[in-house]
Amino acid sequence: VFPVLAVVGRPNVGKSTLVNRILGRREAVVEDKPGVTRDRVSYPADWSGKRFTLVDTGGWEVDVAGIEARVAQQAEVAISLADAVIFVVDATVGVTETDTQVVKLLRKAGKPVVLCANKVDGPAGEADAANLWSLGLGEPYPVSALHGRGTGDLLDAAIEAL
Ligand code: GDP
Ligand code: MG
Repeated sequence: VFPVLAVVGRPNVGKSTLVNRILGRREAVVEDKPGVTRDRVSYPADWSGKRFTLVDTGGWEVDVAGIEARVAQQAEVAISLADAVIFVVDATVGVTETDTQVVKLLRKAGKPVVLCANKVDGPAGEADAANLWSLGLGEPYPVSALHGRGTGDLLDAAIEAL
């Protein structure tokens, strides 16, 4: 059995794009509209010779009903089953209420968390990433899942936490 690394965060922050980047192929479904990944989806992955199970999760909104509630529940299940978590935030948007709620859940779960400040497509976005120190989750790793910028450092940290 390989250790489990779960990718969580609210809808549309780029979780599935990051998963594809880590896998090196387009397997997780990426959409312009939120809420496309409905359930937990697991993929065999490796980084720096270390093998692990990478879990993509659906969009996570708190206090939602119906199908959305089920999706959020799956994300919570993913955290409970994970050995470490990559928490993805859209650095161009900054911290939202939902992000803050997810941080609370992560704290409660007590799993190691690596903070991904995504959508930092160029040097101009570095300041946005630095703002995410305010989440209290340690160093925000500036990443462009879309272009591959910064994903190496993020993965090194995540592997270290597994
Ligand atoms: P998810 O809902 O969190 O899984 O987000 P997706 O991976 O489906 O991506 C949502 C949207 O954000 C898509 O249009 C992606 O192309 C876009 N996106 C993801 N990562 C980046 C990034 O690093 N930079 C930019 N500019 N867009 C991104
Ligand atoms: Mg997705």
